[in-house]
Amino acid sequence: MPFVTPDTMQGPYDVIVVGSGAGGGQSAYTLSMEGARVLMLEAGRRYVPETETPMFQTPEQAPLLGEGTPDKPFGFYDATVDGGWQVPGEPYVSDAPAPQGFAWWRARMLGGRTNHWGRISLRNGPYDFKPYTRDGLGFDWPIGYEDVAPYYDKVEMLIGVYGSNEGLENTPDSPAGILLPPPSRLVSDYMIQRHANALGIPTIPAHRAVVTAKLDADTIPARLHPGNPAAQRILAAAMRERGACLWATACGRGCSVRANYQSVTVHLPPALATGRLDIGTDAMVHEVTLGADGKARGVSFVDKRTGRQHTVRARAVILAASACESARILLNSKSAQFPDGLANSSGLVGRYLMDTVGSSVEGQIPALEALPPLNEDGADGHALYMPWWLYGDQKAGRLPFARGYHVELGSGRRLPGFGTAASMQWLTPGGYGVKLKQDLRRYYGSLVSFDGRGEMIPNERSYCEIDPKAKDRWGIPVLRFHWDWSDHERLQAVHMQRSFAQIIEAMGGRLRAPIETDGAKAISQGGSIIHEVGGAIMGADATRSVTNAWGQTWDVPNLFVADGAVFASNADKNPTLTIMALAWRTADHLLERMRRKEL
Ligand SMILES: Cc1cc2nc3c(=O)[nH]c(=O)nc-3n(C[C@H](O)[C@H](O)[C@H](O)COP(=O)(O)OP(=O)(O)OC[C@H]3O[C@@H](n4cnc5c(N)ncnc54)[C@H](O)[C@@H]3O)c2cc1C
Ligand code: SF4
Repeated sequence: MPFVTPDTMQGPYDVIVVGSGAGGGQSAYTLSMEGARVLMLEAGRRYVPETETPMFQTPEQAPLLGEGTPDKPFGFYDATVDGGWQVPGEPYVSDAPAPQGFAWWRARMLGGRTNHWGRISLRNGPYDFKPYTRDGLGFDWPIGYEDVAPYYDKVEMLIGVYGSNEGLENTPDSPAGILLPPPSRLVSDYMIQRHANALGIPTIPAHRAVVTAKLDADTIPARLHPGNPAAQRILAAAMRERGACLWATACGRGCSVRANYQSVTVHLPPALATGRLDIGTDAMVHEVTLGADGKARGVSFVDKRTGRQHTVRARAVILAASACESARILLNSKSAQFPDGLANSSGLVGRYLMDTVGSSVEGQIPALEALPPLNEDGADGHALYMPWWLYGDQKAGRLPFARGYHVELGSGRRLPGFGTAASMQWLTPGGYGVKLKQDLRRYYGSLVSFDGRGEMIPNERSYCEIDPKAKDRWGIPVLRFHWDWSDHERLQAVHMQRSFAQIIEAMGGRLRAPIETDGAKAISQGGSIIHEVGGAIMGADATRSVTNAWGQTWDVPNLFVADGAVFASNADKNPTLTIMALAWRTADHLLERMRRKEL
């Protein structure tokens, strides 16, 4: 495997890709499979899922029964071996404390956040690329759904996504034969679906990047790499190595059988097999270097193992270090030509940061009490979801906010852990001994939760910039965040609260707590849903955006951004499938420009 150190890097490369998550993994995959020599630089350490994934360990084998701690916020077994809300030696500054200020979650490891993400993989719909045209708020993207659809098809075929086609408004179908079969529903899913549908809320199979049936290694490679038999052979072999889901373990720990999508199990193995991808880990990139011709020459990075500075050269650079970190690298890349940061002639690098609007309601359903034990692990409980259903009401002006949300469901019984008894304490106040055990058995599996995930409209008050004083442990200036929701998002959160309470009540259930009618309290903290995008938005006008429709910076023709930073809006749909689709599109464009010797 060509893992390289600063001494063994064989520059100049065709392309340097910074970051190895969804955007970096997809970029390196497409470029190396189609013939480019690529160096991937990743700030975190190497990670080998086959040997490091704690897939089958049980809670009692872990400290604190696996409960989360500050250095492992999502629990002891979480796949994120390095990273979290705080990263040692890598501070950031927020203009306000929680719950007002921005919270930044980072993974520092090969594969980034794709090792433990929720795998919910939704396509943006046609409206989502043209929001300004619909309601006069925010910005239109310079591309439409039809530009990205072929790349959604490719990514879904490559990574494997389960789901169904329902023909719903702004909830795109995939071409026939692309989606894998969704998992069976839980008892609670059937019940939620029946009552939600009666309220007019559609409840359909979720879309997640989990392989539920063997991937079609006989036909997909030729569809993804037409006219490239070497790439087809490599991909077919990689696809055959992926197992189908076992339905027994928590996807957030990672998947050693490669059934769920992680960059490190899906993108990187075939890319490495081409022999054209070198990966340098523990490489903290802090600057894109600029030549006298105004083009990017390569990058400078700190080798975290030695603390030494290095530079490496390439014909083109792709930043995919995650939205805010890519903005940070650009802002820190100052030169006489770009005193305010590279590719920042518009002054918009770091601007228009967006997260997803979140609000949750939990309840208990007596009809689901004391059901016989059943294995309801696997798929992380995501069999169904509710796409936004009120486009018509919104268009007719019957809602007090713009833009919609979808709903992710939580229910069923999975392997109990540390928090299981605590999550039912409100139902068993003061209980102990035999009675407590009986009550826990009775209530376990009767809890339901609804998590709204809504669109945020970009605003002037939500952005990041370089803090004038604070630096990380290598002396690299760090980000200062500013954050504010608008009333559109706050009112949307209140609507979520009311809708979820209605469903729970229709199911004959009781709410864990009264719903919140104050939007400022109902809404999640900025950044806390971990869907941050923006900071180098794409557009049709160089004075009002950082990149063009291809993720190519307006100012530096051989510098590209291939993560969520380029998003011009943040639809309710979780961002990662779109990050990958755009990264593939950007890589295709870059390859074509290279073939024409334009870069
Ligand atoms: C708990 C959780 C659940 C989620 N669930 C979902 C979901 O269900 N659906 C969905 O669509 N999204 C989900 N997300 C979000 C998803 O993980 C991100 O959108 C996605 O991983 C972003 O991809 P990326 O490549 O931009 O960044 P990342 O995956 O974060 O990768 C960036 C990589 O760049 C590296 N890097 C950073 N700075 C530097 C530097 N200076 N030099 C070199 N390398 C650097 C990092 O170490 C990291 O490995 C979830 C996230 C979390 C944390
Ligand atoms: S549930 Fe399936 S996809 Fe998720 S970790 Fe287990 S085997 Fe892998």
